[in-house]
Amino acid sequence: MDTLITSALVFLFGAAVGSFLNVVIYRLPAGLSLLHPPSRCPHCHTRLRPYDNVPVLGWLWLRGRCRYCRAPIAIRYPLIEAFTGGLFLATFGLFGLSWLTVSYWVLLSWLIALAFIDLDTLTLPNALTQSGLVLGLGMQFALPLLQTGAWTNAIQGLMGGIFGAVLGIWLFDLITLFASAALGQTAMGGGDAKLAAMLGAWLGWQGVLLSGFLACVVGALVGGGAMALQLISRRQPMPFGPFLAIGAVIAMFWGEALIGAYRAVFFPTL
Ligand SMILES: [Zn+2]
Repeated sequence: MDTLITSALVFLFGAAVGSFLNVVIYRLPAGLSLLHPPSRCPHCHTRLRPYDNVPVLGWLWLRGRCRYCRAPIAIRYPLIEAFTGGLFLATFGLFGLSWLTVSYWVLLSWLIALAFIDLDTLTLPNALTQSGLVLGLGMQFALPLLQTGAWTNAIQGLMGGIFGAVLGIWLFDLITLFASAALGQTAMGGGDAKLAAMLGAWLGWQGVLLSGFLACVVGALVGGGAMALQLISRRQPMPFGPFLAIGAVIAMFWGEALIGAYRAVFFPTL
């Protein structure tokens, strides 16, 4: 029973964060303030009451329509809320109540905002990739300090984060080279390199290698599938940020197991 209540609370907390991420995804690329004005209906501009704004449930309760003007509210909003709640809960389930869980919640929030903004606008705002990079380096420093209390570990962590970020940029140049050769055009935007650096800072060199590899695999499958089904043309620009985000989430959740399995297969004597 206790686990059920804790799980529900973690999910609701994540969904509430997701509700704010909806605001970020909508307002940041448009250059609007994130805090002002408070949430309102995009159609009739009526200010929403707190009970209209309850994540997921508010949308279900109002059957996907504005309480005031009955304009339909996109299902994407409650889906992003539920998605964020689900990922927060999965993190909590894997890593328990720990500083690592808290830091991953921060990373997930940045990744969800970046992935959906990239899907919408084909850009990754510097405001998010740069702040995410700084937060990642800060986390690499703070996490070992909180866990062990030793400054040497904190400095080691920070160095690992910086190395990961540099490797992220290199790795990204490499991916760009191959992807451009495969597609016969410049395949990547500058924002992707910054996102790769941010992931390196958060996940370290092994984590960013794994994220980049997984992003290419998932991207090739989805992109190739969409081209085969003629949903998109070969020349159509496709955002790479969402695939990097998917790769990063897999690396967060199962990175150690995947890297361990890889070692066991290719370097069994190490
Ligand atoms: Zn309305």
